[in-house]
Amino acid sequence: MFEEIDVNEPIGLDDYESEDHLSADVAALRAEAAGLAPRLAGRTVWMVNSTSQGGGVAEMMPKLVSLLGEVGVRCRWGVIRSDRAAFFALTKRIHNMLHGQEGGSLDAQDRALFECVNRRNGNDLRGMLAPGDIVVIHDPQPLALGAFLKAEHGVITIFRSHIGLERETPSTEAAWAFLKPYAAVVFTADAYAPSFLASRAVTIRPSIDPWSHKNRDLTPHKLMGVLCNAGLQRAAQPMVTPPFDHQAMRMGNAEGHPSVDAIEDIGLLYRPIVTQVSRWDRLKGFHPLLLAFVRLKERRMRGAILPGDRHARRIELLRLVLAGPDPSSIQDDPDAQDVLHSLTTSYAKLSPELRRDIAIISLPMQSRKENALIVNAIQRCSTLIVQNSIEEGFGLTATEAMWKRGTVLGTRAYGLCCQIRDGMDGLLTKNPEDPEEIANHLDMLLSDGARRELMGNAAQRRVHAESLVFSQVAAWLRLFTRCIHS
Ligand code: UDP
Repeated sequence: MFEEIDVNEPIGLDDYESEDHLSADVAALRAEAAGLAPRLAGRTVWMVNSTSQGGGVAEMMPKLVSLLGEVGVRCRWGVIRSDRAAFFALTKRIHNMLHGQEGGSLDAQDRALFECVNRRNGNDLRGMLAPGDIVVIHDPQPLALGAFLKAEHGVITIFRSHIGLERETPSTEAAWAFLKPYAAVVFTADAYAPSFLASRAVTIRPSIDPWSHKNRDLTPHKLMGVLCNAGLQRAAQPMVTPPFDHQAMRMGNAEGHPSVDAIEDIGLLYRPIVTQVSRWDRLKGFHPLLLAFVRLKERRMRGAILPGDRHARRIELLRLVLAGPDPSSIQDDPDAQDVLHSLTTSYAKLSPELRRDIAIISLPMQSRKENALIVNAIQRCSTLIVQNSIEEGFGLTATEAMWKRGTVLGTRAYGLCCQIRDGMDGLLTKNPEDPEEIANHLDMLLSDGARRELMGNAAQRRVHAESLVFSQVAAWLRLFTRCIHS
């Protein structure tokens, strides 16, 4: 049931420190850790969540675990497992409710299922714990497991919520009431703490590893290699590296049936590209983005393109890439298949010209490294990176794009507001469900290359100052030492 995930991160603090612009960040972490880590000697910290791939938590875990180890804190990572699909349907409902979406009520039967799966996983984990160990529960799925370990075995547990809403609604209240018996807590933003927890809440900002396969620089050869090996670009010359075992798939065929199509050259290296990479979740706002793109194209199709009108030509050539993980690969996200299906259904109803300009891409998840490199390469080929979230706990996809100096079009979802200062590090759409407004923003950003460049530079500085992994490791160290003394 409960499964420990091996962490094997080849890049360590010495490597980061050797790079000029990261050395001060590493030095600050080392200095703080020298005082704190010895206090945690003999203890193991367990990070527990519900999936080893797909989504922001799985993204952060390997580097966080390995850097904590490097600064002297033994740290292990495990995920809960269940073959009961109803459990993940329930936890997805709780997830949506914590984002303020309707979820109905949660009843005694839900609680029984939630506790049953958590107890079985908790029993497995208990066998691996030693006295004094600390268990960090990420997000609500394994929350009851932490509560059992705390109540019945006195284990120090911390609940780290990566989601939340900056306001209370009937749905968030119902979800928090369901989770209340278990909580003790870290949030991404102060505003996410429900009022009954506010006095005990700690804030730790999510972060990225600047040198991960998702974020590291790619030389032109490497970038081209990744695109060709993933099946996203036809190779015009012989290449050193062979195709990846699992290829990216372009979804939706010409007949209009949502099915897998052979990949046609999207023109990632030639055309202006607007991209969104996310899990297939309704709250990520893929559908309104698709409609906005169609609107933008149709506006241009109505007018003739005058010779020399560079912007009109740009819109004519523009393509939209909507990419996300192969939905069959992620156990804890049961809605993904439906969201992708409804997207490809809308896509299939479009004219052949529009379909050619839109690529809905399912990314292979068998290799975390290959998946990360593909996301990296697609983001680097994008003129604009959109994160059109209706609600967003934080939005690491935006952080990743900002680190690459991408021009990001976000929304006023709270997590994105925490990262992007509107008009400075990117732009924010007021209503992510309004295709007209999104289309206007796309049009404006595409027309102004100088502005895009300024925003991209500011975005990278912002991520460097606020969202690199080194400061997150230091924040966890502070919290652990506080917990063992309280
Ligand atoms: N991601 C990925 N492959 C995909 C889709 C998403 O690796 O096909 C990653 C993305 O790069 C980011 C994470 O999943 O690191 C999503 O985190 P975010 O905070 O944006 O949203 P969440 O999925 O946690 O709601």
